[in-house]
Amino acid sequence: MNSDKPKKKLILERQKMSRQDPLLRSKNFKEVALGYTDEEAVVEAVRCIDCKKPLCIDGCPVEIDIPGFIRLIQQRDFLGSARKLKEKNSLPAICGRVCPQEDQCEKVCLVGRKGDPIAIGRLERFAADYERRIGNVEVPKLPAPSGKRVAVVGSGPAGLTIASDLAKMGHDVTIFEALHSIGGVLRYGIPEFRLPKAVLEAEVDYLRKLGVKIEKSFVVGRLRLLDEFLMDGFDAVFVGTGAGLPYFMGVPGENLNGVYSANEFLTRVNLMKAYLFPDYDTPVVVGKKVAVIGAGNTAMDAARCALRLGAESHIIYRRSREEAPARKEEVENAQEEGVQFHFLAAPVDVLGTPDGWVRALRLIRMELGEPDDSGRRRPVPVKGSETEFDVQTVVVAVGQGPNPLVPSTTEKLEVNKKGCIVADPATGETTKKGVFAGGDIVTGGATVILAMGAARKAARAIDKYLEGEFEGKYWSPTASSSSALEQ
Ligand SMILES: Cc1cc2nc3c(=O)[nH]c(=O)nc-3n(C[C@H](O)[C@H](O)[C@H](O)COP(=O)(O)OP(=O)(O)OC[C@H]3O[C@@H](n4cnc5c(N)ncnc54)[C@H](O)[C@@H]3O)c2cc1C
Ligand code: SF4
Repeated sequence: MNSDKPKKKLILERQKMSRQDPLLRSKNFKEVALGYTDEEAVVEAVRCIDCKKPLCIDGCPVEIDIPGFIRLIQQRDFLGSARKLKEKNSLPAICGRVCPQEDQCEKVCLVGRKGDPIAIGRLERFAADYERRIGNVEVPKLPAPSGKRVAVVGSGPAGLTIASDLAKMGHDVTIFEALHSIGGVLRYGIPEFRLPKAVLEAEVDYLRKLGVKIEKSFVVGRLRLLDEFLMDGFDAVFVGTGAGLPYFMGVPGENLNGVYSANEFLTRVNLMKAYLFPDYDTPVVVGKKVAVIGAGNTAMDAARCALRLGAESHIIYRRSREEAPARKEEVENAQEEGVQFHFLAAPVDVLGTPDGWVRALRLIRMELGEPDDSGRRRPVPVKGSETEFDVQTVVVAVGQGPNPLVPSTTEKLEVNKKGCIVADPATGETTKKGVFAGGDIVTGGATVILAMGAARKAARAIDKYLEGEFEGKYWSPTASSSSALEQ
């Protein structure tokens, strides 16, 4: 198709996207990035040279036809472009905002070898927003019902993706979500200024239009065991319960009042709507000065929320800026807004007032040693370099692990030593017959698009399983034993 195309001249610079002024946005929770106008989107789309071998598609875990959707923007068929995206991705407005495109599709974009890669994420966001803006959301024609029922546990990006894929295959899908709101981290973790709740709502609404049923405030492992679903008429189960269990630093004083896990802090701000103060009077204490420990996306989100709630906001990170795991764009946004960074520093103590509230952190200076297992240089404490750093609130954002509830209440569901469910990366098959898993519960904390990619693969496998055609690694549909461990 692309062989007869005339050669295009490379346009090396990408279109800028306007953003709220840093001074203004540091005081409100409105979205920071404002998106492309129609004209900006077309100019950016024209930069795509429609490669013969589009490496960008290989860089996308959900295999979006990237040149295809960009071509439609070039032709100003914005609705067509959104629909092309939705063939592979039910959450394009979300992915266009929060995916680490710089490490995926844009990293391998050919234009990036000579200049800026095509702004694939921004174009994805543009097309999806256009469809939502004009309210012309098309629901694909669904096949005849298969008569098979699937339970999806958890409504994060993994759960949402598999639910939509399986519904489009004609299966009867019910999502069971522990919280009173749908979306997982997209709802309770990522703040309004990066991902407006209205965008998430619209994409959840699309799922409802596909016929997916949703049971909220339903804690699987408490209200009903996973095994009971299988005995109760569900033909298969997908577990997408994420990695919502916060890690702590393990230093003295961490139990003082004023120390939050990032999870709790962000949940109070996002899910319990502290960001809508004074309309919602959510208890969240920030004091004058907040220290956020860590430098991942979670840490940036917490630090930027603290700033918007009126505090002086500091990031404390034990390595250097180069090793910070957060998206570069989000580190820059935080810095522009006034978050202060302290690299090569780590807390050794949280110090308290006599009545049990945080008053300071004792920090030690670090230097970088040899690379560790992660390939990053290991931070080494410098003896005798401790200093006190006055703060009223500490938010610990040093990582999260898988929630143990479902594995611990389900027989024969194997987990690894980190507590992640053991699942075949190609299919999501677990060691328990009829149960598939994907997303952070399998990988540990990762990314939205990787969770979606895993769910996409599991959807194909479940579909085969329901048809009796699944060839498993751990079990086969006809095996009488429920676990490979017994075979
Ligand atoms: C603050 C923060 C910011 C992030 N920013 C980014 C970013 O910018 N870009 C990016 O790509 N990734 C980001 N991530 C990572 C990304 O959000 C996750 O990798 C992704 O959400 C994982 O999806 P999931 O569906 O596996 O799990 P989750 O999104 O964690 O969803 C799991 C769901 O399962 C529910 N659940 C758990 N246990 C049960 C149970 N027993 N019964 C019923 N329901 C249950 C939970 O309530 C939750 O709704 C961020 C993560 C955090 C915490
Ligand atoms: S690699 Fe870049 S230039 Fe080539 S098709 Fe993909 S987006 Fe377009």
